[in-house]
Amino acid sequence: MTAASALLDKFKAAVPELQANLPVPAEFRPDQTGTLTPMEMTDDIYRTGQSRAVMEGVAFSLPNDPKVWEAKGAKKVIMRNFVDTRRSEVLDPLLKVVFDDEVNSWSSDDGYFNWLLMHEVSHSLGPRTVIKDGQEVTVRQALGEYYSPIEEGKADISGLYNVVYLREQGIDEAPLESHYAGYLSEALRSARFGPSSAYGVIRSAAWNFFVEQGALILDPGK
Ligand SMILES: [Zn+2]
Repeated sequence: MTAASALLDKFKAAVPELQANLPVPAEFRPDQTGTLTPMEMTDDIYRTGQSRAVMEGVAFSLPNDPKVWEAKGAKKVIMRNFVDTRRSEVLDPLLKVVFDDEVNSWSSDDGYFNWLLMHEVSHSLGPRTVIKDGQEVTVRQALGEYYSPIEEGKADISGLYNVVYLREQGIDEAPLESHYAGYLSEALRSARFGPSSAYGVIRSAAWNFFVEQGALILDPGK
């Protein structure tokens, strides 16, 4: 077993605890004990067609159908060679232009990778159905046109929330700041996709929220 697959196994085993640890009322975090959460890490050796268009994915979590999730769980696949290339070729150069040296020093392979993994895991956390107007409906139905950006935002921020727990458990060993650098660099990349992209919408909104809250500060001297 490689170190990477041992880490994946630890992340997988923690999923029911992550669900139970969510800071929401119990009815919004149904018990996931025994839920299958298959995860695989691969190297993607050839892409063509739509997978080369506009945005090259590095991971996915499928299926999206809540009924299938409920019965079988969702499978996450992470393409490690694309993850590392995205960081070295796109994310780190963006960080260098926008952030100061301290933030740049936080960026690391494991910090980005583990947050990304937690983003994928977090898609399957939380409620699958909610009650709207007396009817049980999927979260997608309840949120309508806002579903996709909110779902991505849930995965982003729950991912950051969950790495704190995983670090407390000794499962994730990357410094917390390295996850922040990974997420912020990903947000910079996604903002360029604009309002037609769920990632563009929610990461721009999150960025503005951080600025409003004073978490991100413009250095006028830079
Ligand atoms: Zn996602």
